[in-house]
Amino acid sequence: MKKKYVIALDAGTTSVRAFVYDIQKNLFVHGAQQDVCQSFPQSGWVEQDANEIYYKAAYALNDCIAFAGAENVAGIGIANQRETIVLWDRVTGEPAAPAVVWQCRRTSAFCAAIEQEVRERIAAVTGLVPDAYFSASKIKWLLDNCEQPKTLLNRGRLCAGTVDSYLLYKFTGEFATDYTNASRTMLFDIRKLCWDKTLCDYFSVPTEILPRPMPCDAHFGVMRAGGAEIPVAGVMGDQQAALFGQACLHAGEGKITYGTGLFLLFHTGEKCVRPREGLLSTIGCAVNGKVTYALEGSAFNAGSCVQWLRDGLGFFETSAESERLACSVENSGGVYFVPAFTGLGAPHWDADARALFCGITRGTTRAHMTRAVLESIAFNAKELAACMERDSGLCLSCVRCDGGASANDFLMQFQSDVLGASVDRPAQRESTALGAAFACALSLGLTDEREIAARRVSERVFTPSPEREKYAALYAQYQKAVSRAMS
Ligand code: ADP
Repeated sequence: MKKKYVIALDAGTTSVRAFVYDIQKNLFVHGAQQDVCQSFPQSGWVEQDANEIYYKAAYALNDCIAFAGAENVAGIGIANQRETIVLWDRVTGEPAAPAVVWQCRRTSAFCAAIEQEVRERIAAVTGLVPDAYFSASKIKWLLDNCEQPKTLLNRGRLCAGTVDSYLLYKFTGEFATDYTNASRTMLFDIRKLCWDKTLCDYFSVPTEILPRPMPCDAHFGVMRAGGAEIPVAGVMGDQQAALFGQACLHAGEGKITYGTGLFLLFHTGEKCVRPREGLLSTIGCAVNGKVTYALEGSAFNAGSCVQWLRDGLGFFETSAESERLACSVENSGGVYFVPAFTGLGAPHWDADARALFCGITRGTTRAHMTRAVLESIAFNAKELAACMERDSGLCLSCVRCDGGASANDFLMQFQSDVLGASVDRPAQRESTALGAAFACALSLGLTDEREIAARRVSERVFTPSPEREKYAALYAQYQKAVSRAMS
């Protein structure tokens, strides 16, 4: 094989990372990372600068291309934070407004007021629940409130897309997205695989400003770098990429990602399951001419709570220290935390809920509070898993894990105990980047699905404690705390 590397770009919420993947060795041989800023201009608002995302992505990508040698790179795969919306000028490529980030709640009042008929259409066509989380209302808000996008729209120069589509435009000049990212906009028909005109009209989003949706393993465009032409041949939303990177290729296989937020995705095969419990139905993967679906439960805050203890409250210096602190006490001392800084996602969808600690006594220490925060992440995942089991009829016996906070052994063991299922942590923890690399390698004919499945190796499997009742009682207490946090 002449070109032995694929480069995976993981444009996440807090950082942009690029990795050089050696196809034969199934190994990342080099990585480059750039942190990305977020701004919080008002309560519940979250913005980013799309230019910063682009420059940092280009820096990380070029670092990797220089390491590998452009002539040795077969292609580039992109995975990205989903739902975050960028508006830009088709002529200059310059952003026309701040990027509105997936966590941003500025449109929650608008979404809460969506009429029943439209809510039903959203559920039936897009698989989503009407919420500020998804891109549609963010685009509407920018068009209603910002001058430059309006002017560009009138001149026929406006482009609107998720982060993948902006990066693709900047790197290759093509205006496209993949089905998994499109499925998070609340404007995409996940069965017919096209923009839904009725919903686009409802949100006043002209379909002309939206990118062309393509399968994840399409040939998206060509990037010129180091004197070579490198195809961008794989694009996936980060959670779907993690599902693919974890080799969850069949119905019933699933993963939980513990990053800034928490994302549980379960493969439902070629069947698009209609969720009943506030979960989402979404496109899981679209490769080899086949579209498969997933049930998804997402929580807006998980690792971000640990980050808050670290940076906001100064409890410790590094997120990893949360483990030692949590293990320094036998239990949370009756303290419960509800991770609702920006409202509650599935299954509650309560935009106005806010985080709380309860059960604090004079004896409560930082250690109890830290433990309560880590436990809340696991309880939140349990809520999602319980819904997923009810909706799909599947019985969860094993779940694969990844994301920054999956490094925390205490959290993973507690998760296994609370779920009553084993939690399988892979040797290759960068599942999102791996998914992007796999999509690209598959697209270029450098691997196949059988090989992808065979390449996954477990690093550690956490198995559940037999003390089922003890954990059920703790979970019941957490659920009481959730009801107190709700608006
Ligand atoms: P994203 O891709 O969403 O930017 P990552 O997957 O990189 O996020 O995970 C980063 C998050 O994980 C941070 O919020 C951080 O606080 C948390 N985190 C990282 N390491 C640990 C750890 N050992 N224990 C608990 N949380 C951790």
